[in-house]
Amino acid sequence: MLRVVVLGAAAGGGVPQWNCGCEVCSAARTDQPRLQSTQASIAISSDGDHWFLVNASPDLRQQLIATPQLHPQTGKLRHSPIAGVILTNGEIDAVAGLLSMREGSPFAIYAHAKVLSILKANSIFNVLGENNVRRLPIEANQAFEPALPDGSPSGIEILPFAVAGKRAWYLEGKAHPGGNDDVGDTLGLRIRDQASGKYFYFLAACAEVTDDLRARLQGAPLVFFDGTVWRDDELIRAGLGSKTGQDMGHIAMSGERGAIESLAGLDIGRKIFLHINNSNPALLAGSPERKIAERAGWQIPADGTEITL
Ligand SMILES: [Zn+2]
Repeated sequence: MLRVVVLGAAAGGGVPQWNCGCEVCSAARTDQPRLQSTQASIAISSDGDHWFLVNASPDLRQQLIATPQLHPQTGKLRHSPIAGVILTNGEIDAVAGLLSMREGSPFAIYAHAKVLSILKANSIFNVLGENNVRRLPIEANQAFEPALPDGSPSGIEILPFAVAGKRAWYLEGKAHPGGNDDVGDTLGLRIRDQASGKYFYFLAACAEVTDDLRARLQGAPLVFFDGTVWRDDELIRAGLGSKTGQDMGHIAMSGERGAIESLAGLDIGRKIFLHINNSNPALLAGSPERKIAERAGWQIPADGTEITL
C-alpha cells in the first residue's frame, strides 16, 4: 500500500502570498479561507510508520503541525516519522523547509548532484550536520530505494527522470555551483510501492510535455502535475510580474501546448494539479477556468488530502 499526503499544493509564495492583493489572495484572506494553501510538497509512506517528503517547502513547519501522520510518536522525547526528503529541484520552495528540520533528528536527503551542489554552496545548510543528515546523490533513470532509519529497505522504489525545466530562479544568469549544463536541475519522479506494484508520478515543475513524457505517463494510476499558471503570460497580464510561465520553467494549464491539452487522451487514473500559483484563476471554485480543468478530469487538492494507492 502506498499512502500519499498532499502537504501543500501552492507554488512559491503560497496562497495568500504575503505581499499580494490579487483576487485569489484577497479572497483567501477574507471570505474564502478555504483557498489558503501552503507551498507544494507531498509525504509518502508504504508502512504508515515511516514517511518520506518530496521537497521541503518553506511552510514545512506549519505542514507538519497540520499533519498527524508526521507527528512524533506519543511517549517519545525525540522522534519523527520522517526518514528522508527527496528533492526534485533547487528552488526555494523545494529546499528552504530543510532549515526547519535542523533540531538534530537523523534523516537523509536524496537529490541530484546538481541540487546537492546548491546546498553545499550555501553554508546555511551546514546547520544540517552530515553526521545526522546524510546527503545522497540520485541520478536520472536510476531507480533507488530510500532506506529506513535503521538502514532497512523502505519498500518504496523511486525512479527519477529528467523533465524540461529551468535552473532555480535565484541562479538565473549566474554561475551554477553544480555546473552550467541544464542536466539535473528539474526531475520528475515515479514512486512505486514494491509490495503491491502501485505507483504514481510526481512532476511539480515541467516546462513541456514531450512525446517521451506522454508515453511515460500513459496508463499511470495517478499523476501530480505542474499547475503553476493558467496562461503563460498570466503574471504579466495581471500586473503581478514580468515573467511568463515558460521563463520560470513551468508549462501553462491551458492552451494548445498546455498541460490539459497535452495530457488529454492519455489513460491516467487520477490527475491532480500541484504547485499552483496564487495568480491562477483555476483556484477559484466556479471560475470558467476551474470548470475547464475539472471537465478535463483534473483536480486541485486541498492541503492535507490523503490518497491511498
Ligand atoms: Zn496573489
